Amino acid sequence: MKKSIGIDLGTTYCCVMHYEADGSEELVPTDMGAPLTPSIVHISSDGEVTVGEDARDLLLEDADNVIVGIKREMGREYSLEYGGQLLTPEGISALILNQLGNDAARVLNVPYEELSCVITIPAYFGVAEREATAAAARIANLHWEELLPEPVAAAYAYGLAEQPNLTSLVFDLGGGTFDVAVVGMVRGHYRVWAVDGEARLGGLDWDARIEDLLWEEVEQLPDGEDLLFDEDVIGAVHDASERVKRKLSGVDKVTERIRIAGQTITLRISRDRFEEVTYDLLLRSLQATRRVMETANAAGAPPVDQILLIGGSTRMPMIREALTREFGLPVRLTDPDKAVARGAAIMSEQLLAAKERRTVKLGETTVLASSANRVVSVLPRSIGVRLYSSQGPYTDEPYIQHFLPANTPLPIARHRHSVSTIVDNQESVRIELFEQGGNVPSPRVEDNRPLIEGEISGIPPSLAGSEVQLIVSVSVDGLVSLEASTARGRATLHVEAFVHGVLDEQEVEKQKRVTSLLLRGK
Ligand code: AMP
Repeated sequence: MKKSIGIDLGTTYCCVMHYEADGSEELVPTDMGAPLTPSIVHISSDGEVTVGEDARDLLLEDADNVIVGIKREMGREYSLEYGGQLLTPEGISALILNQLGNDAARVLNVPYEELSCVITIPAYFGVAEREATAAAARIANLHWEELLPEPVAAAYAYGLAEQPNLTSLVFDLGGGTFDVAVVGMVRGHYRVWAVDGEARLGGLDWDARIEDLLWEEVEQLPDGEDLLFDEDVIGAVHDASERVKRKLSGVDKVTERIRIAGQTITLRISRDRFEEVTYDLLLRSLQATRRVMETANAAGAPPVDQILLIGGSTRMPMIREALTREFGLPVRLTDPDKAVARGAAIMSEQLLAAKERRTVKLGETTVLASSANRVVSVLPRSIGVRLYSSQGPYTDEPYIQHFLPANTPLPIARHRHSVSTIVDNQESVRIELFEQGGNVPSPRVEDNRPLIEGEISGIPPSLAGSEVQLIVSVSVDGLVSLEASTARGRATLHVEAFVHGVLDEQEVEKQKRVTSLLLRGK
């Protein structure tokens, strides 16, 4: 019998949950009993693989063979040698998925092959990262039904399946990243209306401000000047900062006693002071939130009904207070660390129930599951073009002109965009499509990432400025194809196109062999 699971495949931690047809749910712990698995892999020089807590413990001992934060590398094209094997980011990610699948198979008492899963990915993931995640699941031989954007998973966890007409703003502030998205339902399909955020804004920034405050306190002490250079004090203050931050989520004032070298230092921090010194961080998150609301609105989204909080840092009261003050909407916070895995688990069970033509309980109601509740995919990032002549001289700085905006619903069929030649009698044109790299489209080439490229050659003699028409299609799966033609179709066209950073089947098979070799040695 098949069993469904939801996997939150995070940058720092992963969480796996199972949702039962009767509405009960179960968190899949690691074999050590921990609720979360650190997204850390260790591969020893003789090829032994360790994932999670145990791999983290090897960080000090054998740092060179420990891989942290592989999610940030998804979609990049490279491989590194570990344990005598060449591994791509997909292969490394597959080792994590394999571990999570094995934990689930053990806890749910089903063979690994009988697992059916939904894996979450950030809503801003572009084509390459999405495809890379799919490849990782294939390498791990893990059967997946859907790659679900994290904010949609969160909305599921907060009951969107039962209240489909609500449009939600999902505010996700974790340890190191901040993502915000507007999601809802359109004609029975989930829809991500807009996505925004900051790749480097999270709990760690708030910790650093607490650390500064603690140092201010240390300086006030009679021997404060000496303590500033004491290594034990430096370590202790650093360690205390996150702890003090968490405490301040529950109480107005924290008195922290640090014991070092026979003396006890007492430090006092108030929530008011903490909020004062972190106000700029809060403003940055609000700015992106306003921006995502505007983008969603421009894309035709209904007005936002509620704000859902996910990520551990949303436990800081300043977040809820600011959002309530700014937007006057209900703000909901329940189990922010597990919401994404829980939502993925609910959808996973719904999809499995639909396949098996059986019912599933959602909230208070039991429904005959339908697989229609799939996500309407949208283009995750704007696509633009950079053109330059393959014949010099060429002096102007190249730039990216975006012509397919982010959040356009998929599929996109034969979208036309015209560009022109830049010199007389130009014989060939090199065409490179780029994906927006940051939160907002930028014309600077370095702010974008290469997506697909090709060359038209054999253009008949013509004046500079002759039209070249690009035809771009994007499938529901995010596969991008590019055609190009010159005016009146008179040119001999030769277009070669490939998507960067996506493993082809041959490479997937190779990584499968490599990872199974490593895992067999386990
Ligand atoms: P996540 O990446 O979602 O697991 O979020 C982890 C972040 O949440 C870390 O920076 C934690 O310090 C932070 N966090 C967890 N609990 C609390 C709390 N009670 N108050 C403030 N921050 C918290």
